[in-house]
Amino acid sequence: MRTAFTAARLFTPTEEILTPLLLVEDGRITEVSSRSQKDVPGDASLVDFGDAVLAPGFFDIHIHGGAGLDVMLASLSDLPRLGKFLATHGVTAYFPTTVAAPLDATYAALGRLADAIEAAKAISTNGDPVQARPLGIHLEGPFLSHKRRGVHPPENLVTPTPEIFDRLWQAARGHVRVLTIAPEIPGAMEVIAEAARRNVCVSIGHSDAELPIAQAAVKAGARHATHTFNAMRPLDHRDPGIIGEVLTDDRLSADLIVDGIHVAPAVVKLFLQAKGTERAVLITDAISATGMPDGRYQLGPIQVDVKDGKCTSGGSLAGSVLTMDRAVRNVTQFSDWSLRDAVRAATLNPARAVGLADNRGILARGADADFTVLSPAGEVLKTIVRGRGF
Ligand SMILES: [Zn+2]
Repeated sequence: MRTAFTAARLFTPTEEILTPLLLVEDGRITEVSSRSQKDVPGDASLVDFGDAVLAPGFFDIHIHGGAGLDVMLASLSDLPRLGKFLATHGVTAYFPTTVAAPLDATYAALGRLADAIEAAKAISTNGDPVQARPLGIHLEGPFLSHKRRGVHPPENLVTPTPEIFDRLWQAARGHVRVLTIAPEIPGAMEVIAEAARRNVCVSIGHSDAELPIAQAAVKAGARHATHTFNAMRPLDHRDPGIIGEVLTDDRLSADLIVDGIHVAPAVVKLFLQAKGTERAVLITDAISATGMPDGRYQLGPIQVDVKDGKCTSGGSLAGSVLTMDRAVRNVTQFSDWSLRDAVRAATLNPARAVGLADNRGILARGADADFTVLSPAGEVLKTIVRGRGF
């Protein structure tokens, strides 16, 4: 059974196609073309989204929770509720992200998340409700700088060793896809090299590194940077530090929390100009409070107070209640980037950063039929996962 989707525009996202024709069969895209070049096949049922835009499903590689659920604390049976919530905001794939917690609690959480990732593979193309799928795990810690730990509890920070990294890896049954690590702490370079060898996207962050250390981290295998500017040694024109490396080295992609709270709009512009449309990545860093009323929430072992959309713990920012569709719209408001470029930073760019761009973050033949339907202003109208949900 084939389905043909059409709308006013489609973002691949490297290109824009007018009056697109997106053919889907068994949860995969079989063709992307324009109706001006190709007719709707006779055996396909047509779904027309009018003046809307078809875009790849958003891919959030840094998210701690939402809809009242924390990814380290939620049970396997509860996590689909987070997936359904994310789908309403255009997200079709995500990396549940840990915070620094006691190691035994972390190992247990990683086992549960591995269960969720393996269960999500089995979600069928019919019957199951539309939900974003967890595809891998982001370890934010425990190898973070004491000086730039943000709200990660100091007693849970750990000196990196290949042995502890391997225990985390084993607990996650090999599903670790991103490791945020401060390269200046003793032992970090060895763990960076080992993680990179296992095809983990090594992301420098929560770091007080000076420029030469950040450069050495890239030499050791680091390829990305975590929430640029936040929990980093500040940029100084005579002491550029880690940010000087992140903004100027084309071997690094980098992500940013564009909620208007974590980074001022002018600095968002600076970041986008520095990393460009190929290397800028949007994340939410969202916590369980996302989509919920103000109040007190858990972020792993950390208690967080949420007031007027601002999440704090002991006076420090503690994640966000940002959704990815909002982040995309904020980029178009804070900069001169088009909706297509902003979408790219939430789709293809994160997929590339983590090595999954073969069938994620793009609309192309052979890719998963995971996409979102946006209004011309970037509001999510509908989200399709594996060809379902219209
Ligand atoms: Zn985070």
